[in-house]
Amino acid sequence: MSYYKINNLEEYFKHYKKSIREPRKFWGKVAEENFTWYQTWDKVMEFDMAEADIKWFTNAKVNITKNCIDRHLAKRGNKNAIIFEPNDPKEAAQYITYNELYDRVAKMANVLREQGIKKGDRICIYLPMIPELAVAVLACARIGAIHSVVFAGFSASAIASRIIDCECKMVITSDGAYRGNKTIDLKSIVDEALEKCPTVTTVLVAKRTNTEVKMKEGRDLWLQPLLDEAIPNNVAEIMDAEDPLFILYTSGSTGKPKGMLHTTAGYMVYTAYTFKNIFNYEENDIYWCTADIGWITGHSYILYGPLLNGATTVIFEGVPSYPDFGRFWEVIDKHKVSQFYTAPTAIRSLAKESTEWVDKHDLSSLKVIGSVGEPINEEAWHWYNDHVGKKKCPIVDTWWQTETGGIMISPVPFVTPTKPTYATLPLPGIQPVLMDEKRNEIEGNQVVGSLCIKFPWPSIARTIWGDHQRYKETYFSAFPGKYFTGDGALRDEVGYYRITGRVDDVVIVSGHNLGTAPIEDAINEHPAVAESAIVGFPHDIKGNALYGFIILKEIGEYRDRDNLRKEINEHVASHIGPIAKLDKIQFVSGLPKTRSGKIMRRILRKIAEGDFSNFGDITTLLNPEIVEEIKNERL
Ligand code: ATP
Ligand code: MG
Repeated sequence: MSYYKINNLEEYFKHYKKSIREPRKFWGKVAEENFTWYQTWDKVMEFDMAEADIKWFTNAKVNITKNCIDRHLAKRGNKNAIIFEPNDPKEAAQYITYNELYDRVAKMANVLREQGIKKGDRICIYLPMIPELAVAVLACARIGAIHSVVFAGFSASAIASRIIDCECKMVITSDGAYRGNKTIDLKSIVDEALEKCPTVTTVLVAKRTNTEVKMKEGRDLWLQPLLDEAIPNNVAEIMDAEDPLFILYTSGSTGKPKGMLHTTAGYMVYTAYTFKNIFNYEENDIYWCTADIGWITGHSYILYGPLLNGATTVIFEGVPSYPDFGRFWEVIDKHKVSQFYTAPTAIRSLAKESTEWVDKHDLSSLKVIGSVGEPINEEAWHWYNDHVGKKKCPIVDTWWQTETGGIMISPVPFVTPTKPTYATLPLPGIQPVLMDEKRNEIEGNQVVGSLCIKFPWPSIARTIWGDHQRYKETYFSAFPGKYFTGDGALRDEVGYYRITGRVDDVVIVSGHNLGTAPIEDAINEHPAVAESAIVGFPHDIKGNALYGFIILKEIGEYRDRDNLRKEINEHVASHIGPIAKLDKIQFVSGLPKTRSGKIMRRILRKIAEGDFSNFGDITTLLNPEIVEEIKNERL
């Protein structure tokens, strides 16, 4: 019997039980039957939760790109691996077969080796959603270089801090990027970032926009001429199961970005397995995930998961609103997409527009539709179900994190009955538990608590790059022996999970999880600012927007408050990115603080939301009088 595919609810429960009772047997069988290995493992898994030390498939040897590409060539060489849909619908789509993908990855891998890149070196990839991005990622994996993809919407200082943290040797970028009707000069952003990054010796530049760029002698090289010279054949590096595959930075709620490190074999097995089941993937499907490869969703479910299954994956360069609000639906129609995977913020923004945009296009190719990134509200769920899925496509509301590598809690379509706003049931191998404040496991149903996972799964991140102590403290210390997700959840009467949001202070703006701490750090650097506190408040389109409470140092030259607001926002845009701009800025004379000096954010959150009804216990406040002032001057 194969465990790779769940066909009905009975099988789901059967596989689930097996995966809990005998996790090693379960994953051993999945790994053995569905991948090619140079050498199999001595042990399926070893772990020590107290030390956050987890290993899967010990001593196995493998290369993930052999599994993503080479092994498909005999049967699927002429099948499309990637369909590239450009930003501008007038530009022709590109169809890249598995044969062609092999050639392109091999050439790129050879270019990297030629430039002196070796197994274990870190490469920062800062590219728009073009085929070169996929090729660069896979080429790194081919030769064992560790990719660190930085979303091409990040600012120079955000890139610099990520490059510095993991000491990248090389940056792969492009002259520019198209985004709707805008052109962004990526190369000049990289140039600015690199002023602070001495470890980078080479920059490879792909051509996309033909923007004029400055090429630094001895450092910068155009990519295409190097590729033209390279041979389309490459011997893959033999990787250990636990060799690093990539580093990916989370939004960083505590200021310094967290470089989550994922390793090879466990990540490969789990992303392939979840892709197959959560999207009900079948051989001739066309799969499309609208995320950016710069996020974990793009790593696991645009590239690795689909390619491991020999699927056709769409890479979309554009945005949902360009040239009009029908763009997503047009692409589904054009490429006859079977699975569509997007984020609640995109759904909400499109649901605001007339349904004519959807109805104009034939969406009958769709089979499964998915959501990821934040809780999907009920209204958006129904709109998605009614207008996009036409009530016949199950919605997979997939809960997971950068740290988890793959989807953890989600319906299996055509197997698990869905329920609006519920991520429903854990995937095989995943053991969620809800914990109370006293660190006890909450038994039974109809309960709420902090969501933890009590047993390792194959694609859990192994560490934070260069800071294992921080990894242990962040994820394994709040509830000893368990992985703490940072999210809260409720479990309903039948055992379905609903994620209620974060336990800490992160605001999800338009689907981007923004830690408030780094934004505050940036604002506090402005010469006029003494201190600041940022909270989220509900916003129709963005889901949440940011509200800043700011204490000024002195008024002096900053008498013009609106100008100052603009300046602060420009400061935020250049330090974090435009996405982190504040919608409201209220200047205050003080912030509510506890006696130990911590800002009491729940009060600010209530004020920002306009809910003055019940501030709860404010007796621990050092300065309770400030609450009145802030409330009265709310914007
Ligand atoms: P950081 O850890 O630095 O704050 P981040 O958490 O913002 O970064 P991600 O790993 O991309 O970065 O986001 C994972 C988080 O997104 C989850 O912990 C959860 O809060 C939220 N999330 C993702 N998918 C869902 C979902 N389907 N339902 C509810 N929340 C979700
Ligand atoms: Mg997180």
